[in-house]
Order: sequence, then C-alpha cells, then structure tokens
Amino acid sequence: MLNNNDTEMQIHGIAASPGICVGKAYLVGREGVDVVEKYSVKREKLKEEIKRFKDAVKKAKDELYRIIEQTPKDLSQHAHILETHMVLFKDKMLYGRTIETIENEQVNAEWALKTVASNVKAMFSDMTDSYLRARAADIIHVSDSIMRNLIGAETESIASIGKQVILVATDLSPAETSQIQLEKVMGFITDRGGKASHTAIIARSLEIPAVLGLENATRIIKNDDIIIVDGTSGVVIINPTGQALIQFEERQERYEEHKAVISRESHLPAVTLDGIHLQVMGNIELPEEVVAVMTYGGDGIGLYRTEFQYLSRSDFPSEDELFDKYKDVVDVITPRPVTIRTLDINGDKAASYASDSEAANPVLGLRGIRYCLQKPDVFKTQLRAILRASAFGHIRILLPMISCLEEILETKKILNEVADSLDNEGIDYDRNIEVGIMIEVPSAAILADIMAKNVDFFSIGTNDLIQFSLAVDRVNRQVAHLYQPLHPAVIRMVKHVADVARDSGINVFMCGEMASDPMNLPILLGLGLEKLSMNPQSIPMAKKTIRSLAINETRPFIAEVLKETTTKGVMNLVQNTYGSILSDKIFKEG
Ligand code: PEP
Ligand code: MG
Repeated sequence: MLNNNDTEMQIHGIAASPGICVGKAYLVGREGVDVVEKYSVKREKLKEEIKRFKDAVKKAKDELYRIIEQTPKDLSQHAHILETHMVLFKDKMLYGRTIETIENEQVNAEWALKTVASNVKAMFSDMTDSYLRARAADIIHVSDSIMRNLIGAETESIASIGKQVILVATDLSPAETSQIQLEKVMGFITDRGGKASHTAIIARSLEIPAVLGLENATRIIKNDDIIIVDGTSGVVIINPTGQALIQFEERQERYEEHKAVISRESHLPAVTLDGIHLQVMGNIELPEEVVAVMTYGGDGIGLYRTEFQYLSRSDFPSEDELFDKYKDVVDVITPRPVTIRTLDINGDKAASYASDSEAANPVLGLRGIRYCLQKPDVFKTQLRAILRASAFGHIRILLPMISCLEEILETKKILNEVADSLDNEGIDYDRNIEVGIMIEVPSAAILADIMAKNVDFFSIGTNDLIQFSLAVDRVNRQVAHLYQPLHPAVIRMVKHVADVARDSGINVFMCGEMASDPMNLPILLGLGLEKLSMNPQSIPMAKKTIRSLAINETRPFIAEVLKETTTKGVMNLVQNTYGSILSDKIFKEG
C-alpha cells in the first residue's frame, strides 16, 4: 500500500516557485480520477458492485442534467455537446462492457470502468475520421464523471475552495492556476509540470510556493495530511515530525529575512560596477500584478501576457473590456513603459471557445499570431483596444510566435487598417507606437537580420526558444533535466540575436525566465543584453546581482563561455568565475 499513515516522508520535485508553507493537503477533486486501485470482488458481492456502478452512473447523469438545465441559451452549442454525453452514459460500449467486465473478471467497478474506457478511447483515436476521433474526448469526460462518483471525489472548482489549504493535483492548467485565491490557498504541488511551464510562472507571480513534477504526490498524500512545501528546494514533507516543523519555522524565518533584505534595496537602479544602467522590468499575466512590479522596483512591464483575459470565460472579451484593463495597467505604470503582447492563446493556454481540442501538438498548432491572423476580427478588436490605450502612456506592441516574415507583414497591414479606422472615428492613439516580435521560434532567431529590418525591437522568449531549439517540452517532468538555459546551442542562438539587433540598431529585450536566474546574468550581460523582463518576485535579486557585475568583465568572459562544449562546462565556468557574487545560492542549498 502507498498509504503512509502518519510516518514522516519526503518527496522531491521541481522547485517551481520559491517560498515555504505548511498546511493541510487538499486533493483537487477531479484529479482523484487518475488514482484507480484494482481489487477482486467475491462472486456473491458482484451484484452489489454492479449496483455501485449503476448508482455512480445515475449520479453522474443527474449532475450533467443539472448543468444542461443551467446552461444559458446563448451557449446552446455547448449544451448540445453535453446532451451527446447524456447518451454516452448508457452507451453499450462503455456502460454494458463495464458491467460485463465486473462480472467476468470479478474486479471492482473503478478498475472495470478504467479498463473499458481506455480500450474505447484507443479504438476511437485510431480512427481516421476526425469526428469519430473527437468522440474519444467525450468518452473521457463521461467515464471521468462516472469515476468521480464511484471514488466519491468532489468536483469543486478551484475558485470555490473555502479554507486555507495546500492544493495537491495531478496537474493544474495555467487557467486553473490563475484562479487560485490567495487567501484560501497557501501553495500547491503537482505530479506533472516543469519549471518553465505557465503554471510555474503564474505561481511565481502570485508568490505562492509550488513544487511540480512530483510524479506520485496524488497517490501518496491524503486529504488533510499535514504537508510542508519548500518551493525553493523542491522538497515536500508529508506528516512532518515536531523536529521537522521546528526546522521549517527556522527556514521560513530565514527566507522572509532574506526577502526583506533584498526588497529593501529593490528601488536602487540596476547600475553595473562600471556604470552601465540596465532596465529590469516585470512580466505580468493579470492587470492586478502591475502593483507587484512597482513594489519590487521594476522599470516598467516588459511583457504583459494578455491571453489570461480570454481564459476562464465563455466568449471573447469586448474591445471596451480589453481597453479598460490595458488602461488600468498604463495608468499605474506610467511614465514607465508597458509592452503588451498580442494574444498568445491556445498552446497550453486554451480557451474552450477558441481551441482545437483535436490538435495532437497544440503548442505547435494554431496559437499566438497564427490564430490571430486566421481570426482577423478577434485580432482587430485587441489591436484597437491596445492602440486606444496607447494614447494614455508608453505602450509597445509585441507579437508572439512569429516564425516567418509574412506574419509580420500581414500583421502590419491589419494594424494599419485598425489605425485608419481610429483616424476615421477621430480617436487618439500613439502614432509612433513601436512594434516588436518575440524571438521564441528558432526560425525567427535564424532570420533575425531579415526580421530586424521590419520591426522596432526584439524580445527573446527563452521559455519557448529553449523548448523548440532543444526539442524539450517545457512542461514535461521527464525531460526537465534536459531543459537547459545554459546549453551551448541556446547561448549561441541568443548571441546571434543580440549581435544582429545591435548591428541593426534596434532594441533587444529578454522576457523569458532565463533572465530571472542570477546564475545566467554574467552571460546575458556579456552578450550585450541590457533590457531584461521577468516575474516580479525575481526583480530585486536580479538588480542586486547586476549591481555586483561589471560589463567590461562580462564581455571578455563570453569568449571563455563560447569555448565550453557542454551545459555542465558552462555552469562550472560561471560558478568558478562568479560563484561568490551569486549569493542567492544560500537559499537554494539551505
Ligand atoms: C517565452 O516563451 O519565453 C515567453 C516569455 O512567453 P511565454 O512564457 O508566455 O510562452
Ligand atoms: Mg512563449
């Protein structure tokens, strides 16, 4: 049995968001579905087991019926899908076979359902007809809802959790993470996920400790177990002893002190020892986070990920809604700049009304600029809102997922049309607004010289650039060790982009998480990157590190870095040359 009762136990995962907390575990209901035990059922108990299954089907059907009844008329398409699910509950393949499996194999209902559902899913997904393949997704939904009722797991939404807890989940989507309410959730841990995932990025923005990629947390931890989450070292302690709790308190105190010391200096400028003034800005997902950027001494917003305003809702936001949000941000951050990135929807940030659930590789699918160019109305609505807000402060426009020149040219055409429409209506906007692109697809990095002639600035998005250039999924725990910002290929690619930008006389920013790790700063400064943007929490430490570096030393250091042939070699070189400066290690090792 995996059940650990009350003995202390430690599990290790990926340190995704710093900070330490202790509290009661709260297993996110839906995820209980994955934890299926198999046990045999005596012949005389089979009838009872089948009844248990039928009861669960009935409860799941009743739940769905209530949801259909409550679905507003304008979402009737959605209701239609749910009605299809109603039929599937009594489908012979799912319902009939599960009962047969319980009887024939004398196993528990959960196991029988899981086996049957996997077979049906496999059968559907092998079909070439896309409509039939899509039915596989419906079967998953239906079997999950029966399973939830069998296991007795609750289906509460994350937004409605009502006590101070630590969430334990198989996975949390970025949309779910963004709904976490800070007064109710102290931290979270998941079985899946990687450090550069949007889930991790949002945890850092929300400043809640998080450990991801724990693999088995949902199997080992039970509801209400006391757990300590150390998001700085990636350790989770289950049922800690008194001794462990005392150590936890000491560590938490040291962490708070460390944070306070760094925060006190956060408003000092990021000037290197040889007098070069760098810009250190913040990345935000929600307008409210602008306050954190200010608190941590950010020089503006280097990346506003606008897609979160499109998630967790049933339809696209209106131009006025978007304008109000952008203006809120501008009003707080002015006179500092804000770089608004146009919609990077889909990929791992899918809105139900705008995504293609059949895409096998959504991250390489119809997302970001590709989506916007196919949906000019959606794009124009956002561009109008951004241009209108530009009349109130310093806004830059940033285009995500650019992979070829045509995407820039097409976007500019649409932007001109939008500007003309505002002109015709006599609405004011910044006529000199800068338009830049994310360099996050390797083809854009390779074509940097061509791109530079057509845009005002680059922003290097290392989160995706690393994922795509090293072919390592940024959310996959199993290959997290291969996700290496200091891989020699990444360094060369960043160098190429920075060199081209300098030669072309355009600005280059870095807004990927690579910029937030002090360990990477000697190299980034040496490559000539002087405008960095990161999660707000990391700003004070980055500024402090920059104040201890001299560019006239980091520049020649790059020649040494380029001689290294492996990530480990680069890391050792940085450690040997700059180890004493990179002081936040204290906490990583603590
Ligand atoms: C990136 O890819 O580096 C980036 C900053 O964008 P996102 O993390 O939103 O994909
Ligand atoms: Mg990206």
